[in-house]
Amino acid sequence: MAGIGVVGGTFDPIHIGHLRSAWEVADALLLNALQFVPSSVPVHRQQPVASAEQRLEMVRLSVQQVPNWSVNDSEVCRGGPSYMIDTLTQLRAQVGADVPIWLLLGTDAFEGFVRWHRWQDILQLGNLAVMVRAGVPPVGCVETQRLLLGLHLSASANVGQVQLVPVTALGISATQIRQEVSEGHSPHFLVMPAVCQYIQQQGLYQRNS
Ligand code: ATP
Repeated sequence: MAGIGVVGGTFDPIHIGHLRSAWEVADALLLNALQFVPSSVPVHRQQPVASAEQRLEMVRLSVQQVPNWSVNDSEVCRGGPSYMIDTLTQLRAQVGADVPIWLLLGTDAFEGFVRWHRWQDILQLGNLAVMVRAGVPPVGCVETQRLLLGLHLSASANVGQVQLVPVTALGISATQIRQEVSEGHSPHFLVMPAVCQYIQQQGLYQRNS
């Protein structure tokens, strides 16, 4: 088995930037499965606008047509603050020791990685794939990389590796989408069509919602 990719995020909402970059990393690292993990109560940022159930549903709608992609609801089911260490511990117990697990992170997330809860233990459970957007030099990552190198991690194929993976730069953010919807614009082509419909049906992100 080539490996499982894990993409954590608030996904408020999940958009094409998340999906395309995950696709490119899966392609580059020959991952044969991808799990998207919406956080329950994110600990490193402001709280989401959509409920956990709504964000979970938008991820489900986005991945349902893609073979071997799935939504992992463990953080939402656990409730409370979402820590990636708990999610990876659970996943490692499910898949066993022999399967490489790759945690996919944007450069922004990687820069703050060493402030994550039990970040050193995360590197004992899996590898990091840092998504570097074309034309955006990962200057802020240098310090984190230096720190990780200093750890002299005992890297095997399955844990402790850090790989920078170039991805297409799609300048889309969930913040921009929420803003556009609140101003009465459609998020068409920024999110999957089913998500666009869902946002409309649920009245999500509208100024008066
Ligand atoms: P927000 O604007 O609400 O902060 P976001 O669009 O950045 O949200 P998150 O759910 O916070 O999305 O991000 C989850 C992960 O996806 C992060 O690691 C982030 O770096 C990455 N990411 C976000 N937008 C993109 C994009 N356009 N291309 C590639 N990766 C992205």
